[in-house]
Amino acid sequence: ASKDPPTDNFIFRSKLPDISISNHLPLHTYCFEKIAEFSDAPSLISGSTAYTFAETHLLCQKSAAGLSNLGIKKGDVIMVLLQNSPEFAFSFMGASMIGAITTTANPFCTPSEIYKQFSASHTKLVITQSQFVDKLRDDGEKFPKIGEELTVITVDDPPENCLHFSVISGADEKDVPSIDIDPDDPVALPFSSGTTGFPKGVILSHKSLISSIAQQVDGENPNLYLKSDDIVLCVLPLFHVYSLNSVLLCSLRAGAGVLLMQKFEIGSLLELIQRHRVSVTPVVPPLVLALAKNPMVASFDLSSIRIVLSGAAPLGKELEDALRSRLPQAAFGQGYGMTEAGPVLSMCLGFAKQPFPTKSGSCGTVVRNAELKVIDPETGLSLTYNQPGEICIRGPQIMKGYLNDAEATASTIDVDGWLHTGDIGYVDDDNEIFIVDRVKELIKFKGFQVPPAELEALLISHPFIADAAVVPQKDEVNGEVPVAFVVRSKGFEITEESVKEFIAKQVVFYKRLHKVCFVHAIPKSASGKILRKDLRAKLASGSAS
Ligand code: ATP
Ligand code: MG
Repeated sequence: ASKDPPTDNFIFRSKLPDISISNHLPLHTYCFEKIAEFSDAPSLISGSTAYTFAETHLLCQKSAAGLSNLGIKKGDVIMVLLQNSPEFAFSFMGASMIGAITTTANPFCTPSEIYKQFSASHTKLVITQSQFVDKLRDDGEKFPKIGEELTVITVDDPPENCLHFSVISGADEKDVPSIDIDPDDPVALPFSSGTTGFPKGVILSHKSLISSIAQQVDGENPNLYLKSDDIVLCVLPLFHVYSLNSVLLCSLRAGAGVLLMQKFEIGSLLELIQRHRVSVTPVVPPLVLALAKNPMVASFDLSSIRIVLSGAAPLGKELEDALRSRLPQAAFGQGYGMTEAGPVLSMCLGFAKQPFPTKSGSCGTVVRNAELKVIDPETGLSLTYNQPGEICIRGPQIMKGYLNDAEATASTIDVDGWLHTGDIGYVDDDNEIFIVDRVKELIKFKGFQVPPAELEALLISHPFIADAAVVPQKDEVNGEVPVAFVVRSKGFEITEESVKEFIAKQVVFYKRLHKVCFVHAIPKSASGKILRKDLRAKLASGSAS
């Protein structure tokens, strides 16, 4: 560890110079600031409908007026409980225009999960699809009565006591009230993925989101260069901040078209990429796995893809290389994000307008206008190059704090403004960041630490293994030992012994697998993360064979 005293921070910065960021503006003003340059270009594409930037802007304004007519005021919270759709964008930006705040929720959550978010955020109005309305009427929960105490709007045929979306999108844009927005006013309340516990509500202000977008797509040499002739794939759910920010908001700002998909299905995904000549594909590791391993990929023309951006969960070098060989024309790289960080901490510089060379397996370089440091989790001392420790980030993009939880906020953002991520990683000699794993997920074998992500990356590089996850199992002698859950590739036989041996050949003794359980699927969250907590519970309950 470094001998530097804790006050003497060793700080990592982007290779790109700082830029001036217009984060004094309201978010919607900033996002639509340059639309005169591309007003007739396609902005939102969904099924057979496409909205130009001018139409999108107008529908956002109308929705703002409509929300205001329904009594939504500055500081009020609306919940958007939608699969990807143009109405998601109209609602979110419409709310921003009247100073309201959107909490984005996963429509596939249970009624009780939705209720938790609903009540914690003090939601005044919900925008959803008819198929999810029953979740808001669930008897077990205390939702207010729809139509009387709670306004529910559906984007399709409204069930009883609900309103149709046209009630807001059909309003007169001249009715948008004029309000003052302070850069520190909240605009979005996304929830973290709940990978390690309950999802946490995160307060993002106009300033934080603008800063984060600008760090990605603004400047002479943008870190993530999006152009007005780009078509950006939006298959990742917009209720998760990765897609909301890096796909939707960044594209609106940069003038790129967004191709909306309601859900992931490999055949239609490939067909849509081919038909719309998709050029930028933001993905998550499970999608990279599908694209790298599915034989269907070979029968589609994917030559339009120039950028593949993966984020949200660890992606090993092996899998990255496997997909790269299938899409040789594309720049492949990662971004590293965390809801609390606005969310992007680092981004591959291979996506810049004047790109830099980058390495496989890296999560990019810290974004511009921000500072990153790596600390020894025990001592808090700042570490230098190539030394793994907890990653911390500071800059105008980070959250204001957790919703209703001052204590958690204070233990996450320290007095000097550093956000502690809980992720272990290091920065190499070229300023590229490599994430090892989460502090919480490291397996402690005697005194040694075993990062599950490293073993998972090795496992899925095996042609007979379709997917894998590694978790700790309590062990009397060693404290914890690594155990793997493995999904076999269709039509292939592989035994526990051969899996163990495959790993043992490649790792130091304490990283060896002690057990392999064969399963049909690995549980993952909507944002693409392995739910290791579910697998740990399965092991502890003895239901894993
Ligand atoms: P919760 O905090 O509720 O347990 P979560 O941390 O999964 O859930 P998110 O904010 O969606 O919720 O995810 C942030 C986390 O995702 C990061 O802290 C990091 O562990 C992981 N992550 C994001 N991008 C990457 C990446 N490129 N490589 C490795 N891990 C990543
Ligand atoms: Mg987290």
